[in-house]
This record gives sequence, structure tokens and C-alpha cells, in this order.
Amino acid sequence: MAYSYDEQNIFAKILRGEIPNKTVLETDHSLAFEDINPQAPQHVLVIPKGPYVTFDHFASEASEAEIADYVRAVGKVAQMMGVTPDAGQGYRMLSNAGPDGHQEVPHLHVHIFAGAFLGRMIK
Ligand code: 5GP
Repeated sequence: MAYSYDEQNIFAKILRGEIPNKTVLETDHSLAFEDINPQAPQHVLVIPKGPYVTFDHFASEASEAEIADYVRAVGKVAQMMGVTPDAGQGYRMLSNAGPDGHQEVPHLHVHIFAGAFLGRMIK
């Protein structure tokens, strides 16, 4: 791994219950909660509970159960937000990774933005 996991990052503290969050969904291996500084009318973050910094770490190090749980959690959250194209809406998923990706919190997270026409780019 190119860089190690920082146990003091904000999302690790949220997972340990040291910082409050507005939970949307919790599963065996994943947690979804509202972003503290929403960039869209609906903005939820979905994280795995394991110590993974980026998607590439997660893909190479996580168990099949963790990966399945996480992918299903992301989809379930979009359904719970009521923003799927099936519901006539839409959303954007984004995961920033590393310095060039402008990742601020070094714990894997997928952003889900929704609730408005998002245009070409957000975040
Ligand atoms: P990144 O730039 O790493 O992709 O995004 C990190 C996100 O975490 C930002 O959208 C930021 O608003 C959010 N964030 C940072 N600190 C906290 C926090 O303490 N609680 C919550 N819910 N979100 C946070």
C-alpha cells in the first residue's frame, strides 16, 4: 500500500462513535450518513467500515462480503433517498482519491449527490 491508514481520520472517529453523524443506513460492513457541508440538496456519504483509504485499496484488500455489502449499501442509499432514475429522478456518485483527486478525508467514501439538476460537474 502506498500510504497507510490513519486511525485518527474523521470518518474513523465517526465509525468509533467519537463524532456524531446523521446516519442514513448502517449495514454489517458499511455506514451511510449525511455530509456535514452538503454540495447538493441531498448529499450522502457511504463508507465501508474497514480501514481502506481509496477504492483501489478496497478492491484489492477487502473481502467479498465487504465488497458486496458496500456496493449494495450504495445502491440501497440511492433508493432510500428516492432519487433513482426509476423514480424519475437521478443522482451522481463520486469518490475522490489521493492528492490529485482532492481527497480530504483519507477513508474511502462515495458521495451521492441528488435533489436537483446537477449539470456537468459538481464537487
Ligand atoms: P472528500 O473531499 O474527501 O471527497 O470529501 C470529504 C467530505 O467529508 C466533504 O464533503 C466534507 O464536507 C465531509 N466531512 C468532513 N468532515 C465531516 C464530518 O465531521 N461529518 C460529516 N458528516 N461529513 C464530514
